[in-house]
Amino acid sequence: MPICWLISEEGSHKPIQLPHSQAVVLGRGPETTIKDKKCSRQQVELKAECNKGYVKVKQLGANPTSIDAAVVGTGNEVKMKPGQQLYIETVGHWSQGLKSSMHDPKMQVYKDDRVVVIKDKYPKARYHWLVLPWQSIPSLKALREEHRDLVKHMQQVADQMVQQCPDASSRFRTGYHAIPSMSHVHLHVISQDFDSPCLKNKKHWNSFTTDYFIESQDIIQMLETNGRVTVKEGSSELLKLPLRCHMCHKELLTIPTLKEHLKSHFLK
Ligand code: AMP
Ligand code: ZN
Repeated sequence: MPICWLISEEGSHKPIQLPHSQAVVLGRGPETTIKDKKCSRQQVELKAECNKGYVKVKQLGANPTSIDAAVVGTGNEVKMKPGQQLYIETVGHWSQGLKSSMHDPKMQVYKDDRVVVIKDKYPKARYHWLVLPWQSIPSLKALREEHRDLVKHMQQVADQMVQQCPDASSRFRTGYHAIPSMSHVHLHVISQDFDSPCLKNKKHWNSFTTDYFIESQDIIQMLETNGRVTVKEGSSELLKLPLRCHMCHKELLTIPTLKEHLKSHFLK
């Protein structure tokens, strides 16, 4: 009989074996590395039916739980097949902040039936927006072929944001972070001046100026050719690269000297 494992795609915990026909209860704890106090230690019960090729997932706790894009719901039981992803949302955690912001009319700058655009709360440039789908998609890894049109629409809305920008001379890029810190898929639309007090450290800088920033077009391309998005291994290392000007590639030693240097490219 095949052996069943629960594997973290992000490598945030070790593989958890699910023995045949035995209930394994998971939630906050060392096995999952979920630390959020609001998440129950008994959030889900998993029972592998190794001979049948699926795992029965029962949601015990209150935290929203889904398998790929399908919500499980408290007390409900759903079958999870190999390759499917189990998500446990840790409500109230800071990484869920976009979900509150996107529903806040004060933050919204555009909306239609499929997406909403909000201003980034900690903008890393003069113009920095986030395009989010209403549909709950936790991350790039959950994107599938069926999301292609939605992701294309997000790009079109991003292009509209750029076109209506009051400063017509601003150059923009639109893309996703390889490893986002915030939950719920979001497309960054960011002007390339990086003139903002919120841009404070190397991690911020490299997340927008190295391959850590994946162009929206590349994501669409991946969905079209592979039906899913793959993020290169070792992407997190890109955040440690030396500081380099995105315009002339000069290396600068500190954020203040980099910011001073940027003035030579972007005279106000
Ligand atoms: P990342 O997850 O790395 O793609 O980036 C998340 C972005 O969301 C960052 O640019 C943050 O400045 C921004 N952000 C963080 N919290 C909020 C919030 N509550 N509302 C709006 N934007 C936020
Ligand atoms: Zn330069």
